[in-house]
Amino acid sequence: MDLNTPLEYVKGIGPARAAMLQGKGLLTVEDLLSYAPFRYEDRTNIKSIAQLAPGEMATVIAEVAHVKSQRIRGRMGLFEATFRDSSHSVLLGKWFHGDYLKSVLVPGLRVALYGKIELDSFRGELSILHPEFEVLSGDDDSESAIHLGRIVPIHEAAGKVSARVLRTLLYRICENMGTLPDALPEEVRQRMKLPNYTTAVRNLHFPPPNEDLRLLNEFRSPAQFRLIFEEFFWMQAGLQLRRSKVRLQPGIAFELSDRAREQIKAMLPFKPTGAQKRVLGEIAKDMAAPHPMNRMLQGDVGSGKTLVAAEAAIIAIENKYQVAVLAPTEILATQHYFYFRNLFQKLGYSIALVTGSLSAREKTKIKELIAAGLIQISIGTHALLEEDVSYHRLGLAIVDEQHRFGVMQRLRLIEKGVTPDVLVMTATPIPRTLSMTLYGDLDVSIIDELPPGRKPIVTRHVPETRIEEVWSFVKREIDAGRQAYVVYPVIEESETAALKAAEKMHQHLSEIVFPGMPVGLLHGRMPTDVKEQTMQAFKRGETRMLVSTTVIEVGVDVPNATVMVIEQAERFGLAQLHQLRGRVGRGGHQSYCILVTGKLNDTGRERIRTLVDSTDGFYISEMDLKLRGPGEFFGTKQSGLPALRIANLLRDTEILELARREAAAYLDEAGDAEERNRVIAYLRDHWQARYGLSRVG
Ligand code: ADP
Ligand code: MG
Repeated sequence: MDLNTPLEYVKGIGPARAAMLQGKGLLTVEDLLSYAPFRYEDRTNIKSIAQLAPGEMATVIAEVAHVKSQRIRGRMGLFEATFRDSSHSVLLGKWFHGDYLKSVLVPGLRVALYGKIELDSFRGELSILHPEFEVLSGDDDSESAIHLGRIVPIHEAAGKVSARVLRTLLYRICENMGTLPDALPEEVRQRMKLPNYTTAVRNLHFPPPNEDLRLLNEFRSPAQFRLIFEEFFWMQAGLQLRRSKVRLQPGIAFELSDRAREQIKAMLPFKPTGAQKRVLGEIAKDMAAPHPMNRMLQGDVGSGKTLVAAEAAIIAIENKYQVAVLAPTEILATQHYFYFRNLFQKLGYSIALVTGSLSAREKTKIKELIAAGLIQISIGTHALLEEDVSYHRLGLAIVDEQHRFGVMQRLRLIEKGVTPDVLVMTATPIPRTLSMTLYGDLDVSIIDELPPGRKPIVTRHVPETRIEEVWSFVKREIDAGRQAYVVYPVIEESETAALKAAEKMHQHLSEIVFPGMPVGLLHGRMPTDVKEQTMQAFKRGETRMLVSTTVIEVGVDVPNATVMVIEQAERFGLAQLHQLRGRVGRGGHQSYCILVTGKLNDTGRERIRTLVDSTDGFYISEMDLKLRGPGEFFGTKQSGLPALRIANLLRDTEILELARREAAAYLDEAGDAEERNRVIAYLRDHWQARYGLSRVG
């Protein structure tokens, strides 16, 4: 038996259990050894029932005295078991819908129970609701040595393979495995004072008797620390190798000529902020280097990222290269198109929008122009990459990430045989932990300063029952000369429903609430030119109010608009709400964001409160991550987010930082080619499949 042995062939497992373990992604002995307990229980010093106090979490070992089932209000079944131990006290276990336990918890059975001790005030007895329990009787002595008298691991059951069975299996494996090879470089292990792999795995599942239970349950025992560190170490090493490899590829060395500088000056509608100048400097330096740029531009909504991207585009174009701008949706692509077209009007660049709404003929025509090099900037969704668009001389790809543009798409560009510089813009700041994980192979520029004169936006939460108050507030602002947005959510499945809501509200607002006032209506189904006319009319102030589905998420820029009313705000994600709010507060006037909601659940309330409390995009995205978890935050699969086994991005940030530093230091100092090759080979074998680090080494 070694680490690669399939679980099926391990004594005590067999095909049926192996299939259930497979359901948890556990295929080999190594997988099972990496399957960390989610909790530990101290069964070295177990309390007797007589010693228990209400309110504490406790483990009790006792015998089933008697059981009974009863119905409450004729419907819900309540199963009760009375437990007794040598202290002659009793503890009541209660389970709703627990009838199935009748055949399990038979009188005389010895069990370990774990849960919160409460006082059943009705009976005046100690009780425990839905305790976790484990049947102990039937153990021979060697079995009880596994499950009692020690700190025991509690693993999440895998199908019918219970925590107890897993514990027994792991105990046997740990007993028989001998010393395992340790992949972590010895010098790193020494420097970080980490236990070796064999000890770490053994102690992960069966902690030594003196281990601190609190540390264990916080995942900070030396063994857990080592395994978390290791997981991050390999991930970071892989990302860093990939990054250094891309860096060494030949790429375009753009020149920042005087002419390019002049063009930038002519384009700029205002003086760039210090932060914009700094990041443009970083970008221009990358572009000048004869290697492909791989840079991410982060900054809060409204911090002026697009303007910086436009400057970079000018550098590429003035070097006679083409620029592609890629957005995650057609709507966003359309808005980037308007934005860039507006900025580049004076420069006379040829610019094209490529979307699905073009006719086949138009599309062919545009593709021909792109291939002939006659279109300098093409804007579209990532279909622009997937379709058979071939560029004459693609020099720069600007990717508006919006969390949806995966690492793989980014690489596809390079795989198309061109190595353009790549600038990824993230419209929402990404928590540092995640950007390190996902983009450890990117350089990062951060715009941490808003354009001057911005006043913080005041955000309020209003229940929909008080919508009339919102309208009177809006009326006051409009009477004072300002403008307002009203936004409705579009849910993927039913754009039609949102559309109806927006249309109805448009009618209601323009005929009943604000009779005689021009109100615009904007939605995704409109033809591009109608959309543009509507936006322009609002921009010129001809319409005072714009009712919209989420079309205005990005790109609309009307400094005179001071109110953003978001209806059914509970249906939007945090990041999206923050984006929408960023549409106001762009001029000198005080601006407001009003979040109108129906009834809220706990998470909903938390989300709304986050926005009311803060306008800091980094804080909001940290909260978003906490509320949704890393998987959903990025929409799992295509995000390229690695499936971590023991490490947890939220819990283990500081270990991630350490691992990243150690991986960098190790790769830098690994003068020894043989050693470096060993590391690369290990990465290639073990981690490529899991982390999709397809371009390592
Ligand atoms: P982002 O893409 O980061 O959300 P934008 O590039 O759309 O931000 O810029 C937000 C708004 O701020 C736009 O109205 C833009 O024209 C304006 N803006 C950008 N840079 C500056 C600046 N240096 N001074 C004043 N306004 C600016
Ligand atoms: Mg923008």
